[in-house]
Amino acid sequence: MQRRLLIPAIALAAPLGLASPAAAQGTLNLYCSVQIEWCQAIATNFNRDTGIRVNMTQRGSGESLAAIRAEAQNPRGDVWFGGTGDPHLAAAEENLTQAYESGNNAALHPWALTQWNQSGRRAIGVYAGAVGFGYNSELLARKNIAPPTCWADLADPRFRGEIQVANPNSSGTAYVIIATLVQLMGEEEAFAYMRRLHPNVNSYARSGTGPIKAVARGETGVSLSFVHDAVTERNAGFPVAYNTPCEGTGYEIGSMSIIRGARNIAQARRFYDWALTEPAQRLGFEAGGQLQQPSNRSAPLPPNAPDLGRIRLIEYDFAKYGRAAERRRLIERWDREVGSLP
Ligand code: PLP
Repeated sequence: MQRRLLIPAIALAAPLGLASPAAAQGTLNLYCSVQIEWCQAIATNFNRDTGIRVNMTQRGSGESLAAIRAEAQNPRGDVWFGGTGDPHLAAAEENLTQAYESGNNAALHPWALTQWNQSGRRAIGVYAGAVGFGYNSELLARKNIAPPTCWADLADPRFRGEIQVANPNSSGTAYVIIATLVQLMGEEEAFAYMRRLHPNVNSYARSGTGPIKAVARGETGVSLSFVHDAVTERNAGFPVAYNTPCEGTGYEIGSMSIIRGARNIAQARRFYDWALTEPAQRLGFEAGGQLQQPSNRSAPLPPNAPDLGRIRLIEYDFAKYGRAAERRRLIERWDREVGSLP
């Protein structure tokens, strides 16, 4: 099920009696793969800043890629904002997106431009975040379960039925986790580990942010998530904490791409330039409550956001794991060997 939000033109048009700036400035069809609150803030603020009307569709990263693929002969989206970097790289390789060089590139962290260069200038980093374990500290304490600190802990029988993670077919987060395990352990051991983990997993959720929300609600003890999302839940008042794995962990370069054949190309480029500015990047935290590391160097790391410089990160091979065939192969293997287990 997709969540589709149409910002009604009437709500965002100029006051009565003036020519509507939206009519003058046109429309942007925005595919958005971050949390709905952030997507809405972006749509509203871009419209306010430019007069361009925004039709926004929010879906997970894997789902957005599938939609863009399905619509390749008749593109309906103009820009794809956010979501994990690997599917953006796959889209670039499949010629589903188009190259663009923004005048704002110079303001970005090097990792955002690495993504841009690796994608043939088709995808650019808009934020970064690391994978880890979110947990409900009250629930685990009540059950007398010590929180996980290492990947090895998660396969322990004390976590039987306590862990939630997303399904990599729809979720970019879940794919980053698989690619991380493969890079940490080697492919055979990673799949053996995921099969060992399976009895401890109570559900493979559709969206990458579903499991941490389930932790916040006390429906599951532990989630595999981006750790910035654990802080979002804690800031909302839930008893949520996180650890990053002692063996090391993977991370995402959340990305943005212009869709090939975009009908509203001028508006798409205007949005792309806007989304790289400091004020637009502050919205993730200020309007959406999100705690990723912004890619604009002037946009501050939000208070209490995980500092990637202090997390033991692997040297994630984005070129290899962002390749369309590798992504497809690993997800199909996961379907066969893990997702289909009883
Ligand atoms: N929401 C937030 C806040 C994220 O950081 C990300 C990752 O880029 C996503 C959503 C993507 O979610 P999914 O795993 O469903 O593709």
